[in-house]
Amino acid sequence: MYQQVKSIERVEAGIRLHWQDGKSTDFSGTFLRKRCPCAVCRPTAGHGEPKPIPNLNYQIKAAHPVGWYALQFVFSDGHDTGIYTYDYLWELARGEGSLS
Ligand SMILES: [Zn+2]
Repeated sequence: MYQQVKSIERVEAGIRLHWQDGKSTDFSGTFLRKRCPCAVCRPTAGHGEPKPIPNLNYQIKAAHPVGWYALQFVFSDGHDTGIYTYDYLWELARGEGSLS
């Protein structure tokens, strides 16, 4: 476990996650939708290329906490099967996301 998400804020670009150490990260719906970790989008469980996702703009309709370890997002295309663990989100934040 790297970090816990303390709170979630809705921002114009998508959502802002506030981490326990005081940092925050903005993610757009499109960014997260394209990195959906679910079995439909990643049929080979992390091996090989993820399934191409149509190049559209995706909004986040809702974000539901899953236990104390993950978030489930509902996207504007209705897709809601991705469970984004805090570990995964933190890795995205440190990598391609914009950590501030
Ligand atoms: Zn998915």
